[in-house]
Amino acid sequence: MTTIKKIGIIGAGQMGSGIAQVCAQAGYDVVLSDISDAVLEKALANIGRNYDRQIQKGKLEEAEKTAALGRITTGTDLSVFGESDLVIEAATENEALKRDLLKKLVPHLKPEALIATNTSSISITRLAAATDRPAKFMGMHFMNPVPVMQLVELIRGIATDEPTFNAIKELTLAIGKTAAVAEDFPAFIVNRILLPMINEAVYTLYEGVGGVEAIDTALKLGANHPMGPLELADFIGLDTCLAVMQVLYEGLADSKYRPCPLLVKYVEAGWIGKKYGRGFYDYSQTPPVPTR
Ligand code: NAD
Repeated sequence: MTTIKKIGIIGAGQMGSGIAQVCAQAGYDVVLSDISDAVLEKALANIGRNYDRQIQKGKLEEAEKTAALGRITTGTDLSVFGESDLVIEAATENEALKRDLLKKLVPHLKPEALIATNTSSISITRLAAATDRPAKFMGMHFMNPVPVMQLVELIRGIATDEPTFNAIKELTLAIGKTAAVAEDFPAFIVNRILLPMINEAVYTLYEGVGGVEAIDTALKLGANHPMGPLELADFIGLDTCLAVMQVLYEGLADSKYRPCPLLVKYVEAGWIGKKYGRGFYDYSQTPPVPTR
């Protein structure tokens, strides 16, 4: 079984930076890449702030923070992954983009290096086919925010071999997470169930059954959800939510997965949620204000 010591991560957005934070804290060397230095600087600053929060809560020592940050290097070129034992792809949820990225990545990798994708919905088998090593490729689906959420879904592609699966499962446990195994069907388990609920909440808003606040309050107090579905959609990113619904709709060919036109409109407007500053809530004000 491949011994994983150095982990590469592509994409330093909400997910990639969270994965880097957790892996570095667990003692792995991490190399994090994105398309610009500005994104990488922002990611490192976020990781530092999150470690500080843990120090304030007495869960981390200052020296551990320094050591963890010291284990993270960054770069904007795929050649930074030459020494990686595993590369986790956590770039934007877009199949063409991910396939292109994977194709460009493989010439830089050691022959024995494993590849995992953090995709929320796209076929693992199809993404694996863009690489030269489908047997060493699988889905490792972290939840958002990575440092807080306990679950990692593990998804084999049709060609994934057992040593690869076992190595990724061992890593999942070593970083303190719990694994749930899902088959390679559109959106796997969590998002197959969660995203249609969020999409239905957007339809509920679209049809005027309730406003943003009423819908979120109803699900928080009426179904005991810790976050309302529209607040959660903003947190996930409306671009990601729409991409997952499109994969469900096309992949399962069932009209019940049709993305709500209002969700499409928000994404077209660029109102993609908390990471942009506006989605179903306006985050320029504290507390955030419902937009409908
Ligand atoms: P995000 O928009 O915060 O980050 C995506 C990052 O990928 C951006 O920083 C972008 O610059 C970078 N990127 C785009 N093209 C790139 C390229 N060619 N090379 C390197 N970097 C590139 O999105 P996110 O929420 O972090 O989502 C990333 C992945 O994780 C997606 O596949 C998404 O489906 C998945 N995911 C998201 C969530 C969630 O709740 N947001 C949960 C689980 C999984």
